[in-house]
Amino acid sequence: MITSTSPQRPDDIVACVQASTPDAVRAAAQAARKAQPDWVGAGAAGRAQALNQAADAVQGAATELAALAVREVGKPLAEARGEIARSVSILRYYAQQVFDPIGATHHPSGAGLLFTTRRPRGLAGLITPWNFPFAIPLWKAAPALAYGNAVLLKPAEQATACALRLSELLAPCLPAGLFSVVPGGADTGRAVLEEADVVSFTGSTAVGRRIVAAAAQRGTAVQAEMGGQNPAIVLPDADVDAAAGSIAAAVAGYAGQKCTATKRVIVVGDGARFTEALVEAVRALAVGDPAREDVPVGPVIDAATHDRVLAAAASVEAAGGRLLTGGTTIGDDGWFVAPTVADGLAADHLLETEEVFGPICSVSRVATLDQAITRANAVQQGLVAGLYTRDIAGVLEAANRLDAGMIKVNAPTTGVDFYLPFGGVKASSHGPKEQGKAAVDIFTSVHTVTIEAG
Ligand code: NAD
Repeated sequence: MITSTSPQRPDDIVACVQASTPDAVRAAAQAARKAQPDWVGAGAAGRAQALNQAADAVQGAATELAALAVREVGKPLAEARGEIARSVSILRYYAQQVFDPIGATHHPSGAGLLFTTRRPRGLAGLITPWNFPFAIPLWKAAPALAYGNAVLLKPAEQATACALRLSELLAPCLPAGLFSVVPGGADTGRAVLEEADVVSFTGSTAVGRRIVAAAAQRGTAVQAEMGGQNPAIVLPDADVDAAAGSIAAAVAGYAGQKCTATKRVIVVGDGARFTEALVEAVRALAVGDPAREDVPVGPVIDAATHDRVLAAAASVEAAGGRLLTGGTTIGDDGWFVAPTVADGLAADHLLETEEVFGPICSVSRVATLDQAITRANAVQQGLVAGLYTRDIAGVLEAANRLDAGMIKVNAPTTGVDFYLPFGGVKASSHGPKEQGKAAVDIFTSVHTVTIEAG
């Protein structure tokens, strides 16, 4: 059985369903494969119409879906509303992308015709995390469907109710069997890998690496978006209060549970005033019931995460660092942790090297931008990096040298635009990027066709 509970009220059971067995996954895969040729046959206009209907269905249920995300994964209401709006935009965007060219014509070497064309890969297996319970499934499913694939979605256990509700909303818009949600844990995920012609995964680096290896073994196209350990560099000329507010929100908003959350703050120069402003900004963030409009920091997802964040905070002083704020649990019910700032840790401390998925960051100080970039790059991950400065030379240097798939200047590491390529470098990503026009690369195969007069 899969049971998902509300992180703010752990005795509130949000979903309790049977996990899909490998046989059930196989049956769903067969139904999806059966539906796929007609879906391709519906043509670009037919698929666009269905995706627009799906967007209408999600938009029509926006209030209910936002409330469900608040309840099931503890996402603060304002962010949950934003996620639903973005989900609708993603569906409408890919409803238009179906009309883009699917290849290019080239000069033939003889008198004939030479061109490339793209085809759907077949059955897309999507394995998703819990933290964006609607947007991530849709930023994979919408392009997969738009380019003519069938879809099996294996959501995270903690977001089971959100995924099942999404599937109910999409079902009337799509041919029967074309899109199925198969709830379950790792076993169900492995069964999806066995069936899929293309795999798109988002989640932790440890699981992502296993999935990439399994897909490679089978010769299946695979894309994996994994964890971050995102740095924000603050130069001496930065607007201190603006940078502190922006970084505090990126550290602790949604309890730090975004792959793009800031985990390391690297201050160039003395930094005393900035550090003070950061601690003040972090303390000013309201922590509490995520259903309240004015609360940006809800609970972390579960007991294990709660304990992991507290253990990381507890290790700071023994490691020679200082806790500037936080490090404590809050309340008796729900997995709440006070937003936490650690200072003065060595570059090999857990909070510097590993993604601790909670409202916690580590501040360090260096003398130059060059040292800041070296420290920023001294981890395995490379998802997003931030820089706060008004110095254009510093911006250009950082933009050229930071090991990150996305670089944000005077903007939080969190928050991305769905119509641009999304993904990291190094251990944060494997395979083609997601979202925007980049999504066509994973969900289609390219074929080169040469035609000569017979
Ligand atoms: P997770 O890796 O624990 O789980 C992700 C998915 O993989 C879930 O559906 C899970 O059931 C499934 N799974 C687990 N083991 C499996 C196995 N052996 N075979 C097949 N499937 C398996 O991640 P999570 O806790 O749900 O999400 C948090 C993580 O996701 C964080 O590390 C975060 O940084 C990352 N994340 C990354 C991005 C990005 O785009 N880079 C976006 C959001 C979240």
